[in-house]
Amino acid sequence: MRLVRLIANLGYGSQRDVKMLLRAGRVTRADGTMLSDGDKADHADIRIDEEALDPPQGSVLMLHKPAGYTCSTSDPGRVVYELLPERFQYRNPIMAPVGRLDRDTTGLLLLTDDGQLLHRIISPKANVPKVYEAELARPLTGEEAGMFASGTLMLKSEKTPLLPATLEALGETRARLTISEGRYHQIRRMFAAVGNHVEALHRVSIGALRLDGLAEGEWRLLSPGEVARVF
Ligand code: URA
Repeated sequence: MRLVRLIANLGYGSQRDVKMLLRAGRVTRADGTMLSDGDKADHADIRIDEEALDPPQGSVLMLHKPAGYTCSTSDPGRVVYELLPERFQYRNPIMAPVGRLDRDTTGLLLLTDDGQLLHRIISPKANVPKVYEAELARPLTGEEAGMFASGTLMLKSEKTPLLPATLEALGETRARLTISEGRYHQIRRMFAAVGNHVEALHRVSIGALRLDGLAEGEWRLLSPGEVARVF
């Protein structure tokens, strides 16, 4: 990819802005050699004002999503992008959430700008287990685990039953649920289908990935090894 486009796509500005950066001598190789418009350079070898570039396209990051942020870019309220460096909002393609979380759900959210990876992960065939912990309005009855595991539970206005899911009671009104699909508001609707109501929801893990000490609102890049291990 041409140098100007590569840098512009990472959100550093329009192609015109990037040409100005190049003309001003602010774009160099790691060894300090100035780069100009027609030059070829690897992402890892490019510096702007002596700083390494943001992560390349094809990156995956994990975010510990707090409550009160939506995963949409068009929401008038607070959006998860506010928790990332501002430049990330201008990347092309944008870092899209992999399986959205509702505004009030907290926990592990992955974002990527790799469209193929995104589709692989969210495809129903992927079967990646996702673990949630839910705080419920009413005590568990003891019937839920069987109903969720049955593979016959139908959600309102859906045509196919849910795949079997595993429920583990963590207390009278607390449960850990493992699902392998990602239907709209799935966990909230599952508990509604058995006469309960989710008061608070937290995603603990996706495949082998856990937040592992990442504080609310914090994010980090995944290594290629981590991505390969999970998906
Ligand atoms: N299921 C839900 O109901 N909400 C989420 O945010 C994620 C899964």
